[in-house]
Amino acid sequence: MNLTALGVYGPYPKKNCGTSSYLLKAGDKNILLDAGEGSFSRLSAIIPPEELDMIFLSHSHFDHTADVGVYNYYFESLSKKGKPFDKSIIAYFDDGSSSVSVIKNSPFFVPFAISDGAVLNMGGLSFEFHRVKHPAITHSITVCDGVRRFSYTGDTNDCDALDIIYSKSDVVLADGCFLPEDWSEIKPHLSIDIIKNYSLKWGARSIVGHLNPDYDGETLEKEISERGLLMAKEGKVFEI
Ligand SMILES: [Zn+2]
Ligand SMILES: [Zn+2]
Repeated sequence: MNLTALGVYGPYPKKNCGTSSYLLKAGDKNILLDAGEGSFSRLSAIIPPEELDMIFLSHSHFDHTADVGVYNYYFESLSKKGKPFDKSIIAYFDDGSSSVSVIKNSPFFVPFAISDGAVLNMGGLSFEFHRVKHPAITHSITVCDGVRRFSYTGDTNDCDALDIIYSKSDVVLADGCFLPEDWSEIKPHLSIDIIKNYSLKWGARSIVGHLNPDYDGETLEKEISERGLLMAKEGKVFEI
């Protein structure tokens, strides 16, 4: 498996950057993890979007779904041109928000309703979803190809599900929006110290995503690497 970071910031990007979106290649499958701002154009530079097998939306916040409608327009255009393509599975939780309404009735996706503990199998891969702690209903995804195990936490603060997620993973892409001094229990995201603690507890590597655009990049990189964590960078490919 490998993971390409397409957009790593949230809730909005730094200049010329994007918000949450990652391409996971597992087996012969291409899985898009969230579709934040800038996702479509960056993914298109790597693979034709019709080669996606699944789009996973962790939750409905715009920094994770901004480009969903653009993917839909693209597939609509392919369809009008009579170009055949296999529909992607779209795995999402329907919270009734405007950002998911665009895909709800789209004929260009095969919907999969996420719930806590839901399991999906596809082409030798297994997927598991767990509810995490965030103001919008948010789920993580865990992918196993029979050998390696990878999870993406989605947006979350500290919660019991993180033990489950880390216990099932070799590598975790985690929401590290806060430096420890800015974090509290009522914030919507984790701190990089909490990520470090889960990594050590479960012996899993962590990639820190959902970077805070207000932090200085060099300072953040130093803080992340000092804790033995990896920092998501746009265009960077991580071997899982
Ligand atoms: Zn977010
Ligand atoms: Zn969010």
